[in-house]
Amino acid sequence: MFEKGIIIIGGGHGGSQLAASLRSEGYDGPLTLVTAETDIPYQRPPLSKAFLKEARHDLLPLRPESFYEKNAIRLMLAAEVESIDLGGRTLRLADGAVLDFDRLALATGARARLPAVDGTHLAGVHVLRVAAEARALRDRLHAAENVVVIGGGFIGLEVAATARLLGKTVTVLEAADRLMGRVVAPEISRHFLDLHRGWGTDIRLSTAVGRVVGDGGRVVAVETAGGDSIPADLALMGIGVLPNVEIAAAAGLAVENGILVDETMATATPEVVAVGDCVSFPHWELKRRIRLESVQNAVDQAKTAAKTLLGRPEPFHEVPWFWSDQGDVKLQMVGLPFGTTRAVIRGKVEDNRFSVFHFAGERLLAIDSVNRATDHMVGRRLLAAGLSPSPEICADESVDLKALVQTVTAGA
Ligand SMILES: Cc1cc2nc3c(=O)[nH]c(=O)nc-3n(C[C@H](O)[C@H](O)[C@H](O)COP(=O)(O)OP(=O)(O)OC[C@H]3O[C@@H](n4cnc5c(N)ncnc54)[C@H](O)[C@@H]3O)c2cc1C
Repeated sequence: MFEKGIIIIGGGHGGSQLAASLRSEGYDGPLTLVTAETDIPYQRPPLSKAFLKEARHDLLPLRPESFYEKNAIRLMLAAEVESIDLGGRTLRLADGAVLDFDRLALATGARARLPAVDGTHLAGVHVLRVAAEARALRDRLHAAENVVVIGGGFIGLEVAATARLLGKTVTVLEAADRLMGRVVAPEISRHFLDLHRGWGTDIRLSTAVGRVVGDGGRVVAVETAGGDSIPADLALMGIGVLPNVEIAAAAGLAVENGILVDETMATATPEVVAVGDCVSFPHWELKRRIRLESVQNAVDQAKTAAKTLLGRPEPFHEVPWFWSDQGDVKLQMVGLPFGTTRAVIRGKVEDNRFSVFHFAGERLLAIDSVNRATDHMVGRRLLAAGLSPSPEICADESVDLKALVQTVTAGA
């Protein structure tokens, strides 16, 4: 169909899925996946979980190497795209090579952000996004004694829990007054605060980092903005990410906290799509643009983008979901808790097995579950079907939500 073919930039969850979906949707033309990393596309979530804990743990490939060969996907590793010429339909790699395309997909993801404080260049200061960073962090972590994590979000807390399991002294500095405050209910933040403190981690809320202190080029302490000094031979910066949008912006694509796409993942340039952590898309219910950072979002957007590239566009209407493993506790989230007016709890917080159901009026918007996978799975079906059992029913454990969703969806 396309002589020069399709090029996908970025071999993460979104890029790898997009390549697979193009083939499963019937595209049989030239297909190239170009990625800056040296490893074949792999699962990113374990990097802050199992991979970090065990020195012998390998990366988990998203698909076997043979998949790319069998499906005639040209996988170019260690190939960083430096610039894109949209008019000429070419792109240039850092080594000077120029590739032609008919259609282009950007799946460039995001990179870890550093706080604007002194000392982040010191040895022993780490970030965690890609395998190379995970390997460096793991080597350092196993040898470290005093670990300071800056940022009480998912990645910071997952690393903190692993570091405690490895017997390290761990301190977490969080600038806000609760953990994971951007995305979870206050009940969940409180619960995880208790859990981490129970595991022996020193969690300091409302505490910003002041500077990282070094000696001989290595980190020796982290100083809070209030002037407290905490000994550290490892400091992890887990304060969030920046979307990788620079090559898109330089090529003339519109960017605003992410590459702007429409509901079908198309940019304003019809032959270019973008997916995953690097995009800002119009949410069908919120009626505004958002940028999400999750595997499900990248994968589902890639499936949508494949159809768009092949001339069969469909709007992206998937319910977002996410998970985080901290120690032996599983946190799962579905939906977006924006504009909620009420929350009810199903289960018992003290049992470490409960869910928070978020409502706007009577409308169910989102569910955060702690060690309650069934609630999460039922929630995904409820939200996908646009169903809202009342807050009272959701809170009532004598009502079988799974049976309820089956009855309602069967009758729908
Ligand atoms: C440690 C960690 C733990 C996580 N845990 C979870 C979890 O438990 N659950 C969950 O849902 N999500 C989790 N996430 C988030 C999830 O991994 C991301 O949302 C997901 O990877 C996004 O996929 P993506 O394809 O958009 O970007 P990425 O997976 O980041 O892939 C982007 C790729 O593009 C490459 N690239 C960028 N620019 C260029 C360029 N110019 N040229 C060539 N290549 C380029 C990058 O090197 C990278 O390989 C975690 C993330 C991290 C870092």
